Amino acid sequence: MLEIQRIPLFRDNYAYLLTDPADGTVAVVDPGTEGPVIDVVEAGGGRLDQVLLTHHHADHIGGVAALKERYGARVVGPESDRGRMSGLDQGVSDGDSVAIGTATARVIATPGHTSGHIAYWVPDADAVFCGDTLFSLGCGRVFEGTYEEMWESLMALRALPDATQVYCGHEYTEANGRFALSVDPDNDALKAEIAQDRALRARGDATVPCPLGVEKRTNPFLRADDPHFAAALGLAGKSAAEVFAVLRQRKDTF
Ligand code: ZN
Ligand code: FE
Repeated sequence: MLEIQRIPLFRDNYAYLLTDPADGTVAVVDPGTEGPVIDVVEAGGGRLDQVLLTHHHADHIGGVAALKERYGARVVGPESDRGRMSGLDQGVSDGDSVAIGTATARVIATPGHTSGHIAYWVPDADAVFCGDTLFSLGCGRVFEGTYEEMWESLMALRALPDATQVYCGHEYTEANGRFALSVDPDNDALKAEIAQDRALRARGDATVPCPLGVEKRTNPFLRADDPHFAAALGLAGKSAAEVFAVLRQRKDTF
C-alpha cells in the first residue's frame, strides 16, 4: 500500500509524495516548486524516482527541472502537453497505466481546466490525484476547454468508488464551501462538511484529502445532473452541462 504525504507549497498548493514501502520507490505529484519537496525527500532517505504531472500550469510544474537534475527522477505527464512541458520523459494519455513501485496508477483524461489535464487514479491506495479538476466542494476554472468537457471530466472522476480519497491541487475548501452553501443552502450533508472543514482549518489542519463519497453528496459541481438541484437553481429542464456552466460562471464572480 502506497504511503501518501501531503506537501504544502506556496500559499495553498499541495504536492504529494508517494512512497511504496515494498520496494522503496518514491514519486511526487505536481511539484510546483522544489524546496519543500527536497526537504521531505531528504528526510525520507534522499530518493526520488518519479515525478507525476497533472497539467502544465507553473504552480504544478515549477520544481520539475530542479528535482530531475538533483535526483534523476523520471517525469511523467500528459502526452498532449509535451510541447509546453519541458523535461517530460514519458507522455501518457487516457487509459494508460503508470507503475509506482508495486502500485499502479491509471490515467484519466480530465480536460477543461487545461486541454491536456489528466488525473492519476491509484485503486490500490484508494486515491485519485486530480490536480485542478476536482477540488473539495469545488472544481477548477475552465480555462482551455468547454464547460461540456469539464463536466464530462468531473463525471469521469465521480464514477470512481466512494471510498476514493480526493487528493487535489489546492486548499480551496473553505471558499468553495461558502459558494456551495450559496447555491445549495438546504443541503445538510454540505452544512456538516463545512462545519468539519472549518474546525480543521481553525486548528491549522488540511481539509484535503476528502472522500469522494462525501463530494458526491456535497459538491455542487458534481450534482449538476440532479433534477431537484437544477430546479432549485431555477434551471429545470436544462442539460447537466448547461447547469454546470451556470454554476461555474457564478463561482467565477462569487
Ligand atoms: Zn492549474
Ligand atoms: Fe493550480
